[in-house]
Amino acid sequence: MPEGQTFLKRTAICAELSLEKAGQEVVLNGWINRRRDHGGLIFVDLRDRSGLVQIVFDPEKAEPFAVAEHVRAEFVLAVRGTIRQRPEGTENPEIASGDLEILATEAEILNASETPPFLHTDRTETDELVRLKYRYLDLRSPRLQANLELRHRVAQETRAFLSTEGFWEVETPILFKPTPEGARDYLVPSRVSPGNFYALPQSPQTMKQLLMVAGVEKYFQLARCLRDEDLRADRQPEHTQIDIEMSFVEREDVLQIVERLMVHLFRATLDTELPQPFPRMSHEEALARFGTDKPDLRFGLELVDLTEAMAGSEFKVFSRVAQSGGQIKGLRAPGCANYSRNQLDNLTEFAKAHKAQGLVWIQVQAGPRLESPVAKFLGEAEQKALIERLGATEGDLLLIVADQAAIVAESLDWLRREMARRMGLIQAGDWRPLWVVDFPMFKWDEDGKRWEAEHHPFCMPHPDDLELMKTDPGRVRAQSYDLVLNGTELASGSIRIHRREIQQQVFDLLGITPEEAERRFGFLLKAFEYGAPPHGGIAPGFDRLVMMLAGEENIREVIAFPKTQRAQDLMSGAPAPADPQALRDLHIKLDLPPE
Ligand code: ASP
Repeated sequence: MPEGQTFLKRTAICAELSLEKAGQEVVLNGWINRRRDHGGLIFVDLRDRSGLVQIVFDPEKAEPFAVAEHVRAEFVLAVRGTIRQRPEGTENPEIASGDLEILATEAEILNASETPPFLHTDRTETDELVRLKYRYLDLRSPRLQANLELRHRVAQETRAFLSTEGFWEVETPILFKPTPEGARDYLVPSRVSPGNFYALPQSPQTMKQLLMVAGVEKYFQLARCLRDEDLRADRQPEHTQIDIEMSFVEREDVLQIVERLMVHLFRATLDTELPQPFPRMSHEEALARFGTDKPDLRFGLELVDLTEAMAGSEFKVFSRVAQSGGQIKGLRAPGCANYSRNQLDNLTEFAKAHKAQGLVWIQVQAGPRLESPVAKFLGEAEQKALIERLGATEGDLLLIVADQAAIVAESLDWLRREMARRMGLIQAGDWRPLWVVDFPMFKWDEDGKRWEAEHHPFCMPHPDDLELMKTDPGRVRAQSYDLVLNGTELASGSIRIHRREIQQQVFDLLGITPEEAERRFGFLLKAFEYGAPPHGGIAPGFDRLVMMLAGEENIREVIAFPKTQRAQDLMSGAPAPADPQALRDLHIKLDLPPE
């Protein structure tokens, strides 16, 4: 070892090894992936971040052989040796260095390891709770290493792209005031201002708007957003957004920049061309045709409105729903008329699990003749209308739901995606981006009996709808937009309000009094009085984007240290009780519910 050096340090990594270098001496550092004792020779697969290589320990080289006799899985090892070709017939095509091996001449154990609770080769069979507890071991798996590397590349490409486009990366505070993104805030008590709290940002929304008032003009940030929500499978209490805001822009400018960013990222990471331009669809059209504001365009199975045609039906479910303001809609699954009774019962249960009261199924036989338990209640004209509207032909299965509009939409959206899955209509590598635009500005909250912002209260209403704010808020469209990819919402944004009086009008409608507005957002309203430029922005979800690029189904697979559905970090034990002295310093007394 050279003077001053404390361990046998690497001169190469696994990925750099090749047969062209046969005969050369290298030093490798890494972990023991596997060790095999072949009664005589000992084989060790050494793993580093870049790959694997087989090391051979020969008893004739007594010193390294003695080391190899003691090592086990996940020991940290340093090995000096020569690169040589593997004997014929022993090559391993599964690994990049599978045609070569290293004959060890010197070895040093850099650290031992307890027997790991699981081997990453068995990660799919290991309970996720165990893997989360030992996340640093799980992260050693090639799959998660590849995901982390991809995440890094997407971040770097994003920065490079936006920077070339003239955006500045600006960091905004983590200790701030509540942001109205619709979730609960995480609060942080202030020690030096007793009784006062910071809120962790649900997004940098107000801050990025202030940056526009500040003349930054083009801002981005890989921003951490913290939301105390009841977690669903694909949510995390903290997530990262590519947060973007631009001044002197209209909707089209924002869509263009994000479209080009996405095209660039898919090209750079997957070598894939996204179809351009991304199609646009109004929120209204998306709901009508697909029952959702995030339609998956990789397959058809569009919804067809049958309400009018069925209004006078003898089938009471149909006529009752049609006459009481509900909806009747259906979709056509080509080639599924041969579904068994069992399969159809199963689909009915599926629809019910997604809120529908029932599912009407109709098998289209030769003729076309409709076969269904309800067929006898449908008159000739109705049958004809069904066939025409749905474009039904022999061999089709028609699936119809009659209910309140929202339930029809939700259940048929689920059914549509379920049928696409069952019918094998989804091709790997098929990417269908879509802009959904003109979302409603407000939604009615039945429980609270009040209007809520559909996105957030800073969206600019559509210029044609300003009058409707006074008469029919439910019909006001916002200048907002979502980017949807294969049925996943990937980004949300809007052109913002930059005039104080319009902002106040929106607050009024949301039931936010001028005093409350002043208390919560006074700083922003004040800023609007000092020459706020027209501005707008958007925030693509970074975790979700990386998840899709990685071909993963769950965002936990692309986050280094994710939390569970109960917002816990199983590795560190967070959240955890606070030190009593810390609570005293904060003037906090706990009043916990009984166990
Ligand atoms: N702040 C918004 C969000 O987090 C995104 C935006 O409107 O730019 O959803």
